[in-house]
Amino acid sequence: MKIIYCDALIIGGGLAGLRSGIAASERGLNTIVLSLVPVRRSHSAAAQGGMQASLANGNKGAGDNEDVHFMDTVKGSDWGCDQEVARMFVTTAPKAIRELAQYGVPWTRIKAGKRPAVINGQHVQIEEAKDREGYIQSRDFGGTKKWRTCFTADATGHTMLYGVANEAYKHGVDIRDRKEAVKIIHQNGTCYGAVVRDLVTGELSAYVAKGTLIATGGYGRIYANTSNAVICDGVGAAIAMETGVVKLGNMEAVQFHPTCLVPSGILMTEGCRGDGGVLLDVDGHRFMPDYEPEKKELASRDVVSRRILEHIKKGKGVHGPYGDFVWLDIAILGRAHIEKNLRDVQEIAEIFAGIDPADDERDSKGIPKGAVPIRPMQHYSMGGIRVNPKGETALKGLFSAGEACCWDLHGFNRLGGNSVSEAVVSGMIIGDYFAEHCAQAEIDIQTSVVEEFIKEESDYLSSLIDNGGKEDVYTIRNAMKQIMDHKVGVFRDGKELKEAVVELEDLIKRSRHINVKNKKLHDNPELEDTYRTQRMLKIALCVAYGAEQRTESRGAHTRLDYPKRDDEKWLNRTLASWPDPKQTLPTLEYEALDIMKMEIAPAYRGYGDKGNFIPNPKKEEREKQVLETIKAVEAKGGNRYAVQDALMPFELQPKYKEINERLGEVDNRYTVQDGLKPSESSEPQPKETTVGDAK
Ligand SMILES: Cc1cc2nc3c(=O)[nH]c(=O)nc-3n(C[C@H](O)[C@H](O)[C@H](O)COP(=O)(O)OP(=O)(O)OC[C@H]3O[C@@H](n4cnc5c(N)ncnc54)[C@H](O)[C@@H]3O)c2cc1C
Repeated sequence: MKIIYCDALIIGGGLAGLRSGIAASERGLNTIVLSLVPVRRSHSAAAQGGMQASLANGNKGAGDNEDVHFMDTVKGSDWGCDQEVARMFVTTAPKAIRELAQYGVPWTRIKAGKRPAVINGQHVQIEEAKDREGYIQSRDFGGTKKWRTCFTADATGHTMLYGVANEAYKHGVDIRDRKEAVKIIHQNGTCYGAVVRDLVTGELSAYVAKGTLIATGGYGRIYANTSNAVICDGVGAAIAMETGVVKLGNMEAVQFHPTCLVPSGILMTEGCRGDGGVLLDVDGHRFMPDYEPEKKELASRDVVSRRILEHIKKGKGVHGPYGDFVWLDIAILGRAHIEKNLRDVQEIAEIFAGIDPADDERDSKGIPKGAVPIRPMQHYSMGGIRVNPKGETALKGLFSAGEACCWDLHGFNRLGGNSVSEAVVSGMIIGDYFAEHCAQAEIDIQTSVVEEFIKEESDYLSSLIDNGGKEDVYTIRNAMKQIMDHKVGVFRDGKELKEAVVELEDLIKRSRHINVKNKKLHDNPELEDTYRTQRMLKIALCVAYGAEQRTESRGAHTRLDYPKRDDEKWLNRTLASWPDPKQTLPTLEYEALDIMKMEIAPAYRGYGDKGNFIPNPKKEEREKQVLETIKAVEAKGGNRYAVQDALMPFELQPKYKEINERLGEVDNRYTVQDGLKPSESSEPQPKETTVGDAK
């Protein structure tokens, strides 16, 4: 049995895993990164739209800062996030962008002068100042108050991932692909690494480390229709939960992206709408302003997804062989814009749908020939391995970062552009805490115990091949995906969720009798699909059962039978665990969010239905306290940093807490609460003003 020793073991070679690898190797640690695929093929490469950070360089970003980014993130999360984590994140994001620029990421830059743009369906000119030329540009994305999404044309994730991977290689990180972590090694509440299967030879070995970090991405593939890559199966989260110690947070918080190509599910980036693309129904009518007069197509993703499906339900969708859909019109942006800024989108539409989205020849209803058929599909996993702000799980020495974890930056809805940003930023912050742990920890596990873990896994794999069962893995896997799509999707209700849980429980029992027809222990996709499907079913059950129990609507979790957000009963985070391997349902418990420690008490989000929440009984008390604190600190001449610190102190490494410099920033007043009137439970935000708006 092969045992490989290292200081820092990282499972997952996407943006989060690789950036954590850099943090560990910078500390002189012997660092190994494992990945299912060559790391530059990780799912992070698919991100097209961009990365949020409040640089405030461009005309439409003027006035942006950490406070505004923080406010957008908290509102976007529907107050489900950990606000301290959100503060850690927004403070570090600008440093992450600048670091990536140093790694060579070719961020799109500002060009001085006027440029054409489409805002709210209107062609306008935006003028960029001469002294901003050459600085990093940002686009409209994620329904944010200011334009802060930095991008490299429409291949942002691709260039970021290459930049970070190159840097990891440069730092001497030992990157090993086609290696799958299948079991976490632990003893007496401490993690010592993982049992790893070589996907080519089938060999099992143990990677023993002082610390282990899981950065295995999301669990989108438990759904039939998803924008996620085939490797996003949630197995990393499942093996953490199988320790019986680690818990998963808010697994029911699943994001559905409004604009996925029908039927393939390939994403048409939100950058399409950010750049001015609009949604049209069967009559060529732009319907989003009817539902969301303020944010229109740029309301948060959960809201736009619901509005599209509501509109389709009213009979306004286009009938197609793969179900009803609506049109995404980017032809309105003009061919020159598309061929420069949305090239990937154009190529995807051409290759997979035979459509040139720049073709603006319109029919009698005004629908362009280049209109792209889209529908909401699974896209992002807000839930994941529950960690504290330092990225530590309940198992000592086991950390998690990126989409795999529930840090919890996103609550019940993550903003577009906040996720690649989280992957890198969590890699910096959590990676650094992780490295600190590895530098101090010791490996004090006996070799015989490690060997026992390998043997257990080996016996398990043999049992899959020899169990004489009658079930077929693909029948079970496809049934799971259909249940998730039909009963645990955008709109959920108690009856269907109950059915989903019962049906998934039945599948998990059946999955214990899968007959693997191909008997080889190496080079055997059927065997891989079998052990992965068993774990995916556990993840699916955490999502479905968590959704059934959560009797409220929050962010992307919409219960038709409980349409209001309930801050009285449900201002909490679901924790799922699986202490006994024989269980067929996860054990659920809840972690309360303390409103008295929040910088922003829960209120109206500024989009979506108004008056749609049951206020927390302490809401007014906290709001009053917040306003008094602001007044008191400002009266003593305190700037926004002093006010923030008085309201909600947060811990962050000094190198990341340093003030972010911005061109021409003069106003250091605290503005977070300006948009929220105290005690207003249901009123919309005052109309936002955009600094430097060019007409
Ligand atoms: C189509 C698409 C477009 C997107 N666009 C944007 C965008 O514009 N802006 C934005 O902010 N976000 C975007 N996102 C989300 C964002 O891309 C992801 O959340 C983020 O990149 C996740 O990074 P990660 O490092 O956590 O995981 P990933 O990049 O998914 O990496 C996971 C890694 O784990 C490895 N792995 C998995 N399981 C195992 C195992 N058992 N053993 C070993 N290795 C394992 C994989 O091989 C991979 O290397 C998009 C998502 C999609 C689906």
